[in-house]
Amino acid sequence: MDTNEFRKHAHLIVDWMADYLENIENYPVKANVEPRQIYDQLPPSPPKSGESMENIFADFQKIILPGITHWQSPNFFAYFPANSSYPSILGEMLTAALGAQCMIWETSPAATELEERVMNWLKEMIGLPSNWEGVIQDSASSSTLAAILSAREKASGYTLNDQGYTGKEKFRIYCSTETHSSVDKAVKIAGLGRGNLRKIGVDNAYAMNPEALEQQIVNDLSNDFTPICVVASLGTTSSTAIDPIEKIAAICSHYHIWLHIDAAYGGTALLLPEFRYMIRGIELADSFVFNPHKWMFTNFDCSAFFVKDREALLRTFEILPEYLKTATRGKVNDYRDWGVQLGRRFRALKLWFVIRNFGVEGLQEKIRLHLNLGQYFAGLVNDHPDFELLAPVPFTNICFRYKPQGVINPDELNNLNEVLLNKLNQSGKVYLTHTRLKSRYTLRMVIAQTNVTQEHVDKAWAMICELAGA
Ligand SMILES: *Cc1c(COP(=O)(O)O)cnc(C)c1O
Repeated sequence: MDTNEFRKHAHLIVDWMADYLENIENYPVKANVEPRQIYDQLPPSPPKSGESMENIFADFQKIILPGITHWQSPNFFAYFPANSSYPSILGEMLTAALGAQCMIWETSPAATELEERVMNWLKEMIGLPSNWEGVIQDSASSSTLAAILSAREKASGYTLNDQGYTGKEKFRIYCSTETHSSVDKAVKIAGLGRGNLRKIGVDNAYAMNPEALEQQIVNDLSNDFTPICVVASLGTTSSTAIDPIEKIAAICSHYHIWLHIDAAYGGTALLLPEFRYMIRGIELADSFVFNPHKWMFTNFDCSAFFVKDREALLRTFEILPEYLKTATRGKVNDYRDWGVQLGRRFRALKLWFVIRNFGVEGLQEKIRLHLNLGQYFAGLVNDHPDFELLAPVPFTNICFRYKPQGVINPDELNNLNEVLLNKLNQSGKVYLTHTRLKSRYTLRMVIAQTNVTQEHVDKAWAMICELAGA
């Protein structure tokens, strides 16, 4: 392909992209294909000679698109969103064109310095302490892994990376029973042993019980374990519960334990001053992650990770082979030392585009709209005699179920709701997912897609009522 051809196809593809996003509601939200249906349409061997872009793009439309779930549809109410927005897409396009590998300052000073500046903006936007520092990671999972590894190194006096486990370490990590599975994964990878991850019980709102946490820490200390890290959540994945940070932070500070806060989805709400109560006591915490790639309209991947003690992070991840020695070392940030990856995408660009194009007020306005729609939908559920809410609604995830009058058998109710969910999703008109709360099959309706409006919520509710009635 030469430049002229590139130009031609780029214009065609951009036109296709605009049409796609404009007409996204015409596609079934959830891909409705059988396993291997896409794979079997693809030739077993790669082409020997090059093919035309026309043919390749035709196959994209014919073979690939039917197997895509349309996450940018405003009828997408599943999981948590992975939102994009026009400015973010434009940023991603430029990142692809530059094709820069931003592992250290020298390999693209602007990428490093923009990242530093934009992370400082974000820190201020969500009310984190001004002496913390931020870095963009690929995912909340990676951010949490970085936090747990840093806590481990700090607790070992920075000896573990050098010497490996001696067999004497008896480290313990804590989170609630509702905490995201990325903590289990990080504990496995860090070699801490899943048996040393203590899952603390929750209250009626599914938030961590701080008294139970302290009890477990005291027990462990008296059995010669060393508590090294607590992971608290602002918005658990199942029901978006909010762990009591102020109390947990006081406990961690008292026992000298690293406190990591996982706010992957809920952290975006901190853009609104009325949500700042969630991080009261954060000065006593050590690290924090939230994903602009979930609810802040920035294409996956873009996870914002902040730490109080940058030295702990750097001492954990720093490497310095001869070929990466530079004269600017120490004067600038070399982000390869701030996490697992060496190579890094230029992710700050799309985040910069998003923040500038929306403006802080524009972001706040959209988030408020989503929060209002969440309360509106919760009201609809609450007022209907045949439905019930199953958890508080602090953000925009509504946990509910169909409970027709007269049906009380738990298995029957679970079954009814599972059938209802399958019917809803098979319709192609909406996409919701489920969880289990106190062994009850629970529908989750997350109203946070970039372009969702009350009309979409009303249509979804009408469908839910109609299919439930049938
Ligand atoms: C989504 C989510 C994660 C995982 O996020 P990734 O960026 O996909 O790793 C972690 N914690 C919580 C609370 C989440 O909601």
